[in-house]
Amino acid sequence: MIDLTDQVIFVTGAASGIGEATVQAAREAGATIVAADLAEIGGLSSCDMGLALDVSDAAQVERGFADALARYGRIDGLACCAGISREGAVTQMDMAHWHAALAVNLTGTMLCARAALPGMAAAGKGSIVTVASIYGMTGGQGNTPYNVSKGGVLQLTRSMAADYGAAGVRINSVSPGYIDTPMTAMFQHARPMQDAFVKMHLLRRAGRPEEVARVVRFLLSDEASFITGANVPVDGGFSAAQLIQM
Ligand code: NAD
Repeated sequence: MIDLTDQVIFVTGAASGIGEATVQAAREAGATIVAADLAEIGGLSSCDMGLALDVSDAAQVERGFADALARYGRIDGLACCAGISREGAVTQMDMAHWHAALAVNLTGTMLCARAALPGMAAAGKGSIVTVASIYGMTGGQGNTPYNVSKGGVLQLTRSMAADYGAAGVRINSVSPGYIDTPMTAMFQHARPMQDAFVKMHLLRRAGRPEEVARVVRFLLSDEASFITGANVPVDGGFSAAQLIQM
């Protein structure tokens, strides 16, 4: 049983999908939750403090973490779940999509970690979980801004783990496969492609947000006390083998 009692956990992207499921999972383990998203989170009974912030805006992130620290005195865990999907091959993509994916997914993750790390390092402990993707681990068609941002998240995670391990801070990533959330629901218009994508997972099904959240919760907890710099695929086996479609 994972126990996060007395732990203050900061979750970004907390209003939807994997972030919302992470809030619920951490709450079930007894954590105090600071839940951040673009708009202030109303009606989410499982959070103790809701914050409206854009993770790609350095000033907003600094203010949000300062507010959480003023209220609780420390942040023990950070789950960086905020993210956006932006499509396109390099000759076709809108440059705004390239910049947005990098700003939110990569820079946003870095800014939140940068705000949380000084307090964690001073305390000599802390855990940060970033959310990458199977498409940070491998190439993929027609999705270059997103894929590059997620590859960057994996490298950011390893680099931060190298820099802050001596201070007792663990930093790991999860790489989800296809998970049923509002993000993937947006692509339901391309149904045949979605079905083919799901069949590339060894378990032949999409994942559920709580299946990712449980791994995030494990990495946040002391149960993962000797894990840092790791990437945990939560992908139904997508990254383990290339299936021959019969
Ligand atoms: P989602 O769209 O359901 O939730 C994302 C949340 O992030 C939303 O609440 C949104 O408002 C918030 N957000 C977006 N931009 C933000 C910003 N600038 N500042 C603060 N909050 C912001 O998506 P999801 O599927 O739950 O995705 C969560 C994370 O998991 C993302 O990083 C995504 O890339 C990653 N991921 C998802 C899948 C999948 O199949 N769903 C697969 C791999 C990785």
